[in-house]
Amino acid sequence: MAEYTVYSLEQAQKLIANHYMAATFQPAAQSYTLTTPIDGSEVLSIADCRAEEAKTSIDTAWTAFESWRDSSAFDRSALLEKWYGAMLANQETLAQLMTLEMGKPITESRGEVAYAAGYVKWYAEEAKRVYGTHFPAHHAAKRLLALRQPVGPCYAITPWNFPAAMLTRKAAPALAAGCTFIAKPAEKTPLTALLLGRLWLDVGAPEGTLQILTSSSSRQVSAPYFEDGRIRKITFTGSTPVGKILYKQSADTVKKLSLELGGHAPFIIFEDADVAQAVDAVIACKFRNSGQTCICTNRIYVHESLVDTFATAFSAKVSQLKLGDPRQDDCQIGPLVDQAGVAKVQEHVEDAVSKGAKVLTGGTLDHNLYYPATVLSNVSNDMLIMHEETFGPVAPITSFRDEADVVRMANDTQYGLASYFFTKDLARAWRVAEKLEYGIVGVNDGAPSAPYAPFGGLKESGIGREGGSWGMDEYLVTKYVSMNLAE
Ligand code: ADP
Repeated sequence: MAEYTVYSLEQAQKLIANHYMAATFQPAAQSYTLTTPIDGSEVLSIADCRAEEAKTSIDTAWTAFESWRDSSAFDRSALLEKWYGAMLANQETLAQLMTLEMGKPITESRGEVAYAAGYVKWYAEEAKRVYGTHFPAHHAAKRLLALRQPVGPCYAITPWNFPAAMLTRKAAPALAAGCTFIAKPAEKTPLTALLLGRLWLDVGAPEGTLQILTSSSSRQVSAPYFEDGRIRKITFTGSTPVGKILYKQSADTVKKLSLELGGHAPFIIFEDADVAQAVDAVIACKFRNSGQTCICTNRIYVHESLVDTFATAFSAKVSQLKLGDPRQDDCQIGPLVDQAGVAKVQEHVEDAVSKGAKVLTGGTLDHNLYYPATVLSNVSNDMLIMHEETFGPVAPITSFRDEADVVRMANDTQYGLASYFFTKDLARAWRVAEKLEYGIVGVNDGAPSAPYAPFGGLKESGIGREGGSWGMDEYLVTKYVSMNLAE
């Protein structure tokens, strides 16, 4: 580890304050104040980039691309390996920055840094395996090839709920493929992204290959990227309404596009499930990041023969989840990210209760942004929570009788990101996995994400896949070369 620069939290904050990362770390012309959801206090003054900085960054990304695309895949791989090492060497500081900026419990933040580094490691390896194809022609003198080349400079808008992993899941395959990459982290979470960028420079990466532009106005700073034809690829993780806007904006210059949008994950527990395992899996799935993930379950369907047993066991365990200061190791539920997040949770709970839901645990705001882990039973399909993503620590339980019915209810949404079910019946496992209209299906598994697996949604949950070889394809274009050897 000694070969890597390791920053303390104080050193990292000093470095990040009022700076953004273009070719190098640069002081900003203007700034905005970042506050923490932990107690609302001011944390740092952050670079507030606008269209002018964005335009310069496109020139920088284009110039860097002209040499980066011709670099050896082995050299890119070696740099990514070093970036991975630098991330692990700085795991604690990255985790502390993340907890500070968005309130994730510190043990989860450490886990996210390891998970984020896992993408860098995987794509360091994959960089060397971007194979083209040589295929037969009907003409004896012809030799036909399909080359795979980097798509070009890319622009990413990344979300606040996974400040490290959502950046590396996009940037690592792009850089491995030979693309240059500009990231605009969510305005609430600039800290982790900037330190990740700094670590990329520290390990000797060429200037301009990765740029991090922080801004309080995503719309203003983003506009030039959509207008400029040199940006060949847009990648976005966020809500479905914003994804639709960006999809339209990409049309004018016909950009390649990846969208990871909203979810509304069903979790089905069939009558032959192992209830104890299901309880633990739903807790892991629902309450990670205080329920602020796009693949966390939003609707729990339990077979009517098990629903009371499940609800009792589940709410007993959920009531033990510790709400508190996310900087403490024993914290399991931290603050929600902002007041709008709290308001949405309150709206969903109040609406459900007014229509007959029962609160088994939690159900009222503790203080400030701290909302406890909550379980609702007697939930019915006319409640808001059964149709909209809550993005908070509320688990609604409803019951079902019939497999075909519950699959139909699970699919009755415009979303199609993640879904889960528990059963011990192998035939049912295949049948239901095939019928669920979701990009991700966890069978007896509440935590399916992995750097080597395809992550992405169907329907209005998105376009494209991140992770594994599928994630690399998003940053490559295919070029057909036909050679006629006839003399
Ligand atoms: P959230 O605000 O909950 O993170 P959103 O999907 O609304 O989810 O926003 C995700 C990101 O997209 C944020 O960083 C936001 O600033 C940015 N964004 C919103 N609208 C636009 C837009 N019109 N152009 C570019 N970025 C946008």
